[in-house]
Amino acid sequence: MSKTPFITKEKAEEIINKYPTPFHIYDEKGIRENARRLKEAFAWNKGFKEYFAVKATPNPTILKILKEEGCGTDCSSFAELLMSKKCGFVNPEIMFSSNDTPEEEFKYASEIGAIINLDDITHIDMLEKVCGIPETICCRYNPGGTFSISTDIMDNPGDAKYGMTREQISKAFIRLKELGANNFGIHSFLASNTVSNEYYPTLARILFKLAVELKEETGVHIGFINLSGGVGVPYTPDKEPNDIYVIGQGVKKAFEEILVPAGMGDVSIFTELGRFMLAPYGHLVTTVVHEKHIYKEYIGVDACAANLMRPAMYGAYHHITVLGKENEPCDHVYDVTGSLCENNDKFAIDRKLPKIDIGDIIVIHDAGAHGFAMGYNYNGRLRSAELLLREDGSVAEIRRAETVEDYFATLDNYWNVID
Ligand SMILES: *Cc1c(COP(=O)(O)O)cnc(C)c1O
Repeated sequence: MSKTPFITKEKAEEIINKYPTPFHIYDEKGIRENARRLKEAFAWNKGFKEYFAVKATPNPTILKILKEEGCGTDCSSFAELLMSKKCGFVNPEIMFSSNDTPEEEFKYASEIGAIINLDDITHIDMLEKVCGIPETICCRYNPGGTFSISTDIMDNPGDAKYGMTREQISKAFIRLKELGANNFGIHSFLASNTVSNEYYPTLARILFKLAVELKEETGVHIGFINLSGGVGVPYTPDKEPNDIYVIGQGVKKAFEEILVPAGMGDVSIFTELGRFMLAPYGHLVTTVVHEKHIYKEYIGVDACAANLMRPAMYGAYHHITVLGKENEPCDHVYDVTGSLCENNDKFAIDRKLPKIDIGDIIVIHDAGAHGFAMGYNYNGRLRSAELLLREDGSVAEIRRAETVEDYFATLDNYWNVID
């Protein structure tokens, strides 16, 4: 089984004439169509809104496309808030879901009217001190223990640093109400990259029941429930992708069974998806520059883990297509490597691929989220450009590649001295 790239070999060659590899390229059409499907899947909920997790793909052009599709942003740092503000997102299109938060960031989030999601009960006093308690406020919940769907353990919230305990969230709501808040939200993120139509519905049931309890216990008005991120994508070609319509209907069923009978049918559903919104619509495109035959067969490319860290960091699988060789038999076994002086700099290990030659162009799939964004400068490697394949087939550079001047920019004082 395989995955089909959104660019052909001919298109890639045309792009490379102007923008050398390696680069990340995003598919505008795919991004827009997917965002529309999400919106449709939750159209049954009047207040539904997706707050795109900026950390997944922090590029202003991407954020503006998503804004046109009705999305807001989810930020967790000053720079992400600033980028959202500069892209024209206004109150209440920005969610601030951070943790271990510095005072200045609460202050700035409050200034630009972002909805603040408190990760910890001690942040109530901090927020009150630095900018006062807003009328609309959200708290992040951590149920502890393990999180299962049916009998499968999906993750370990009890080991996660995020959110408040059950007891803390009640206390937090009561205290925030005393301090003037009148529109409450509940947020939780219990499992990452789920490829299961049951994740959101299962999480929704937990949060909807919690919402009913908290309303009864504390008397607050609950305006929204934020299901956060975690709906994933199949990185391997053998897995069925999530069906967002089935997911939307699963959440609707829980909503009708739990919230509607409790007189809470006016609650808005929010999401903060990152990976689901962008991962499949981004490729890392790289050229084969080297082959090496020692104890194994190595194919060296001009991208490295500094351009896409997931394989090195998590051993993550990213599917690979050798452009123009889509129909050739995968009868060779290769490690596809970058140039870092780190043996984990491998985009693929023991991967069955067609025979590869120097000069071949390779597409690394599903790099559109947590790809470029996790880039770094180890070994003096520079970040690549980001390109956008427009709906009309043209290509725009939406971030230039780093230069060595960028790499040295923070040494300007020192550099003058030794010059
Ligand atoms: C990372 C993150 C997201 C997005 O997660 P995905 O797995 O990319 O969907 C959403 N909300 C918060 C608070 C996050 O930290």
